[in-house]
Amino acid sequence: MSDCLFCKIRDGQIPATITYRDQAVVAFKDIGPKAPFHQLVIPTQHIASLAEAKSEHAALLGKLMLVASELASAAGYRERGFRVVMNAGPDAGQSVAHVHLHVLAGRALDWPPG
Ligand code: 5GP
Ligand code: ZN
Repeated sequence: MSDCLFCKIRDGQIPATITYRDQAVVAFKDIGPKAPFHQLVIPTQHIASLAEAKSEHAALLGKLMLVASELASAAGYRERGFRVVMNAGPDAGQSVAHVHLHVLAGRALDWPPG
């Protein structure tokens, strides 16, 4: 999508620190980290929200989770723990309309979230 921030990051039109890329998935550091480790994992395909995802996206959504786990583990958080979060829609605070997983680690994370 031409006016989508994360599509532009995917395409290199907006700079970001890319940490992982394959045909289906891109990951990069969040510009405003909420924990010592905070990366975003997105599908290369533009899907506006989890609420828009269809059954055909099931494997892709699963892949986002596996990449999130691999990134956190590679950064040393496998044992200590990490959190993956996907905000969907306004009440959840989704601010970028391209599906993305937050991967957070490096401090004790409160529960429940605000
Ligand atoms: P949301 O609020 O939609 O769940 O998460 C959007 C995330 O994107 C936020 O954590 C925000 O810090 C991050 N973000 C917004 N703009 C940019 C940007 O230009 N570059 C990067 N790397 N992250 C961004
Ligand atoms: Zn997009």
